[in-house]
Amino acid sequence: LVARMHEFGTTVFAEMSALAVRTGAINLGQGFPDTDGPAEMLAAATAAIRDGHNQYPPGPGVPELRAAIAEQQRRDWQLGYDPDGEIVVTAGATEAIAAAILGLCESGDEVVCFEPYYDSYAASIALAHAVRRPVTLRPGPDGYTFDPDELRAAFGPRTRLLLLNSPHNPTGKVFTAAELALIAQLCQEHDVYAVTDEVYEHLVFTDSAAPHIPLAGLPGMRERTIRISSAGKSFSCTGWKVGWASGPARLVSAVLRVKQFLTFVNAGPLQPAVAVALRLPGSYLTGVRDRLQAGRDLLTAGLAEAGFGVHPSSGTYFVTADIGPLGGRDGIEFCRALPDRCGVVAVPTQVFYDNQEVGRRVVRFACSKRPEVLAEAANRLRALA
Ligand code: PMP
Ligand code: GLN
Repeated sequence: LVARMHEFGTTVFAEMSALAVRTGAINLGQGFPDTDGPAEMLAAATAAIRDGHNQYPPGPGVPELRAAIAEQQRRDWQLGYDPDGEIVVTAGATEAIAAAILGLCESGDEVVCFEPYYDSYAASIALAHAVRRPVTLRPGPDGYTFDPDELRAAFGPRTRLLLLNSPHNPTGKVFTAAELALIAQLCQEHDVYAVTDEVYEHLVFTDSAAPHIPLAGLPGMRERTIRISSAGKSFSCTGWKVGWASGPARLVSAVLRVKQFLTFVNAGPLQPAVAVALRLPGSYLTGVRDRLQAGRDLLTAGLAEAGFGVHPSSGTYFVTADIGPLGGRDGIEFCRALPDRCGVVAVPTQVFYDNQEVGRRVVRFACSKRPEVLAEAANRLRALA
């Protein structure tokens, strides 16, 4: 194995899901839902397979899906992208993130990202021989925030791009308009690209202090931003791995150039099905959001009663909590022992930090499960109190 990959072991999601299978515990670790996506989407996929749409689709993705992605971005965010040249379909958001970093970073270039970061960011940056410059999100009375001076200081002559995930996994933070304005200002001052991971764009809770705002919509940002999203979370099909990147043609063509040689194209019959999902009435997604929010509430209450220090979540599939009040000192140890202690699996967050101390006592629970499953998990967690 090449040296630059030595720091990356088996992903924490794989480890914790295996632990759940081994112990039979309720898996609130890896973020996936336990119900299926819309019936219309599932029917469209089986119809596409039955009707013979089983050979290589076009490189940038099937036209029908690219058109639906363009419509959705215009409808939801007033962002206009040309389906021919400004949108490319990828193997999940993960491939889009990797291809964007590999396509834009020279060896030694720096990538600014907020920590805790989604685990694939660090690996993709390393694969590109680039260098990550983490800016730490810290929990506080107003949710997770960062120090603007720390962000300013992270930008320098070698900064090539900024990677932003909002709504944010694992914290459930939705970046505010003021935070995004500072990010946009710094990207422009330092002539840096932005890559935005918006896979939770539709999963912002109604009591979030901030709405979701795509960074690409801020003045001066469209031309320097690659906006990434995915069907997995919105439409409860994380195993389909259908994602996409949108941006100005010159940036999207950089993504496509790399993507061609990572996967060439992605699962053909799933693409028209995702187009069907994107065209469903808005009530579908607000329904997903409302059920998730009810799950968040159940889980938050259960964790608080169990004695965790809960950090309120404004969106995504996740809630984070401090194990300190329960006497926990290390999230990894805590999560490895949790199935035996109470039959629940969670993931430690320190693995998503360079400054691991900040996250050492914080663990993440998924609320993307049916209410009866979350209620049972909450009961089991109360046994810790
Ligand atoms: N980014 C974030 C923040 C995620 O939570 C996930 C997991 N859904 C991904 C990217 C990967 O998305 P996909 O499964 O579409 O590759
Ligand atoms: N995005 C999901 C999570 O954060 C899972 C992704 C994965 O297993 N790689 O839990």
